[in-house]
Amino acid sequence: MRLQNKTALITGGNSGIGLATAERFIEEGARVVITGRNQRTLDAAAEKLGPNALVVRADLTEDDAAERAVAAAIERFGTLDIVFANAGIPGATPVGGTDRAQFERVIATNLTAVFFTVQAASPHLAAGASIILNGSVHQVLGIPGASAYAASKGGIGAMNRVLAAELAPRGIRVNSVVPGATRTPIWESRASTPEAMEQLEAAYSLAIPLGHLGAAVDIANAVLFLASDEAKHITAAEIVVDGGTIGAP
Ligand code: NDP
Repeated sequence: MRLQNKTALITGGNSGIGLATAERFIEEGARVVITGRNQRTLDAAAEKLGPNALVVRADLTEDDAAERAVAAAIERFGTLDIVFANAGIPGATPVGGTDRAQFERVIATNLTAVFFTVQAASPHLAAGASIILNGSVHQVLGIPGASAYAASKGGIGAMNRVLAAELAPRGIRVNSVVPGATRTPIWESRASTPEAMEQLEAAYSLAIPLGHLGAAVDIANAVLFLASDEAKHITAAEIVVDGGTIGAP
């Protein structure tokens, strides 16, 4: 029970990596507040997670969304100890095929909303609290066709170090997970048939020395470690969970 009596806010907790993390956190004794936009998947997650989960419907690109989620966490559970700023969208378009609105939507969701989630939460966090940001191997690998996405995640890497330095005097740790290709709804949206998905995964696996994609729980386990007191002397760090990825097809 590594998170006994802790309360965690997990953005994008209704799907993929966020949902897997919510499940692991609850198994370890935490109470979780999950946010998302899709009412159907929020309801399904609430049923799966049970009474130790609170669901807040929120589009984090809107001004007061993060404040509402934080206020709901405090009202229901009394404290906030862990924040996993995880919500994100893909942006796999090449330079010539990306319009301004698409570029700005990716940055607004994957970078700006993460900053304002941390801003909303941090006044409520006490010494010992842990913030984890979700990056991507795109922030370091230069994979073609995803400038906006890579820029948003590169911003996460930079912000991780700054936030860690800023919040360290208050005893709050800030770290990041850096996932490689991981089988979740974001990933599955990249192919329209099971055969196309199989081909895509086979191609990606060639660039993954461990030979296969990650599962959402692989990322969740790294987040759990960073959230727990086992990581009490770790801040400004990045844990890469990508099977050793060396590129993309
Ligand atoms: P999912 O699509 O399963 O989850 C994305 C989550 O983000 C959903 O819960 C979604 O909620 C939420 N979300 C998206 N936009 C908003 C918004 N504007 N406001 C609130 N919530 C929002 O994908 P993953 O689990 O794979 O992605 C989680 C994170 O992991 C992302 O940041 C992604 O970039 C990162 N990542 C994923 C990789 C992968 O291969 N899967 C690799 C590297 C990084 P809703 O559905 O309700 O809109």
